[in-house]
Amino acid sequence: MPDLWEPYRTRREGRHRLTSVEITVSNWCNLRCRHCAVGDSLVAQEPDRLPLDLILRRLDEVEGLLTLSLTGGELSGSLAALRSFVLPLLQYAGDRGLKTQVNTNLTFELGRYELIAPYVDVFHITWNYRDVEHFHRTVWGHGRQDVSPAASEVLYTRIVENARALAAQGCFVSAESMVNRETAGHLGRMNRFLAELGCRRHEVHPMYPSDWAADLPVLPLDEFREAVRRLLAERDPDLWVLFGTFPFFPCSPLPEDQEILAAVRKAPNVTVRNCPDGRNRLNIDAFSGDVRVTDFAAVPPLGNIRADRLEDVFERWQRHPRFAPFNCYCPEAGCTGPNLLVAEMYYPGVDFRTRRAAPVTA
Ligand code: SF4
Repeated sequence: MPDLWEPYRTRREGRHRLTSVEITVSNWCNLRCRHCAVGDSLVAQEPDRLPLDLILRRLDEVEGLLTLSLTGGELSGSLAALRSFVLPLLQYAGDRGLKTQVNTNLTFELGRYELIAPYVDVFHITWNYRDVEHFHRTVWGHGRQDVSPAASEVLYTRIVENARALAAQGCFVSAESMVNRETAGHLGRMNRFLAELGCRRHEVHPMYPSDWAADLPVLPLDEFREAVRRLLAERDPDLWVLFGTFPFFPCSPLPEDQEILAAVRKAPNVTVRNCPDGRNRLNIDAFSGDVRVTDFAAVPPLGNIRADRLEDVFERWQRHPRFAPFNCYCPEAGCTGPNLLVAEMYYPGVDFRTRRAAPVTA
């Protein structure tokens, strides 16, 4: 299946096009992960969502829409919302022939995921855990330290069993790991565990320095390269590894960056996806109607669906000064430029429009 979230594929006539919408359908979560990039948005009690009709009308207006992603918080936490809001959105997508992704922590009973499975192309889960003990330390890092290790183990086991069950039923389960100090040396083992569960893809991203993760140490790029080398050497080669928001670019003047890019290109079953945020995708907050370039609060809203058409908001971002330094494109390398937060974290002050992909040598 072609990757319809890949912005390189959706550029037309020299311009990025809005082909993907992500909706934040929940601001509630039962976990409190230390690295959560939307942690500050989480609430104990959710306000009312906007009328579904308004959201569907705004989606209807996007003629070239190809994909719909639903994210949170945890979208399966409320069975009522799952039935009355998440399911109709997914059914709308199915009727329109859109590819769908749901981001979930899989900690609730399997039946909730089976309810939506017929309409889901990708179950996207987070997997930043070395083992059950590390899970316990990680997922309560921002509160609820009173949760017992035994209670954490119940959740950990449920994620594992749900992922295994959904994969066995033929669902496409894609697990995302972020590369940080906690995971960098363990990605190979995590990858092999995901393969055992039946996951079809392992997404590997840098940790985003947003919200609760903002004060965590940024992994230096030399350690990041080492983590990638080690993952390539230790992974299960049958499990597709997708590097997203990869912090190494074909225009880099550094030989070590070109080497890591060549190693990734050469590895079987390994791909790099350009970042969709603002290049073919926008995020809608289903509660406020705010439209952002990503669900991370670090980027202020660009508009609101109560007043704005999504295509207009997308054009606003294309002209936005914060996007300008990263709004580059090297078709010879299939590269559409860096993710905003990753570029600001690793390449402050660099204007990527002045750079050009180096010729491929390997
Ligand atoms: S598109 Fe941007 S980031 Fe990618 S190689 Fe070209 S200049 Fe570098």
